[in-house]
Amino acid sequence: MAPEPIGPLARTPEEWAQALAPLGGRAFHAKQVFRWVQARSVLEPAKMTDLPAALRAKLETLDLPRTLEIAQERRAADDTRKLLVRMKDGATVETVLIPGVTGPKGKLPSPVQDQAMEAGDDEDDDDPPQPQAGEEPVRVTQCISTQVGCAMGCIFCASGVAGLKRHLGADEIIAQVLAGRARLDPGERLSNVVYMGMGEPLANYDATARSLHLLTHPDGVALSARRITVSTSGLVPEIARLGADFGGRIGLAISLHAADDETRTRLMPINKKYPLPVLMEALRAYPLPARRRITIEYTLVAGKNDDPAEAKKLVKLLRGLPVKVNLIPMNPIAASSLGPPEMRGVLGFQRILCDAGYSCFIRRRRGDDVDAACGQLALLGARPKVRVNRA
Ligand code: SAH
Ligand code: SF4
Repeated sequence: MAPEPIGPLARTPEEWAQALAPLGGRAFHAKQVFRWVQARSVLEPAKMTDLPAALRAKLETLDLPRTLEIAQERRAADDTRKLLVRMKDGATVETVLIPGVTGPKGKLPSPVQDQAMEAGDDEDDDDPPQPQAGEEPVRVTQCISTQVGCAMGCIFCASGVAGLKRHLGADEIIAQVLAGRARLDPGERLSNVVYMGMGEPLANYDATARSLHLLTHPDGVALSARRITVSTSGLVPEIARLGADFGGRIGLAISLHAADDETRTRLMPINKKYPLPVLMEALRAYPLPARRRITIEYTLVAGKNDDPAEAKKLVKLLRGLPVKVNLIPMNPIAASSLGPPEMRGVLGFQRILCDAGYSCFIRRRRGDDVDAACGQLALLGARPKVRVNRA
């Protein structure tokens, strides 16, 4: 699949300078455009009031606002918002705004925590909620997509069952954040971004990496790298690349879902290419800063990977690695009869990991009533390629 040309929304200030020079723009104009777009989500040149009128007129021809449109917004009872995003070619993905558990609403009781806490929730968090309750903004985590569909074919995942349609461009990835931030409620602040929507971010490495550079650019969205988490099914060469390109500062989440190769290959075909010993080696080599941990995601699927014996294997497999474990009871999907274990089984699985000394959380499902929870970001109207049965 040929890489997308770099859309104007994904330009760095330096690239804006190059692009604007033939139009008579100066270097400081480039910085102004970058700030309007990336720091303020203003895409209409007419509103870029500090630019010369002639330059604004020329920017109009780029049609920046057309990169994507929010075709639909659905709000769940817990205030999670699912935004259906439509790109120029009509392809759709989803992005989800998840209000956090800090701020006026207070912390959720342990052990059941919140998916919004996927990133930046280590004990070394240097941005704790302020003491004056009721005044601090509600921190919102945005979950973004990187592909239309996904080629990885994990059997419990709606995106995987749909198959890969195409990569998103870096402009389409960053545009989700710009549009999401523009739609925050009063009193909310975008605090974290997680690459956990539709698609495998590391299978679309160049666009993902460019979007990470833009999100962390000090004149743009200006998120700290440790407030961003890239979740991967385990593409070993790209894990190394991400570690090298960003010095290990981007949060890493690994969708593990099993502690032995046989079980993992049954759930995730990618395990044939990068089996557990190779994957664990890549995790050990990830240049994680001090006191940071890799997130291990383990979707519990009844009868497939939820046996206490699996938990014990997991204890052994993860030994010596700086990790925290998120257990996610599988969200049922239309294309499969697979489902979550009973809560008793989930708690038993968690107990084994906790007793072995791991930080282990059960992730509360957010936005279930609008299908916004993990793994339910299916292609709208797409027919599943396969039907998966429990047997
Ligand atoms: N492709 C990447 C990121 C997107 S999936 C990855 O696999 O890591 C984000 C997370 O949701 C992954 O951990 C994935 O395994 C999990 N997930 C997918 N389908 C799910 C489902 N039906 N129920 C619970 N978690 C699911
Ligand atoms: Fe793709 Fe992740 Fe879904 Fe697997 S879990 S099919 S890698 S989106």
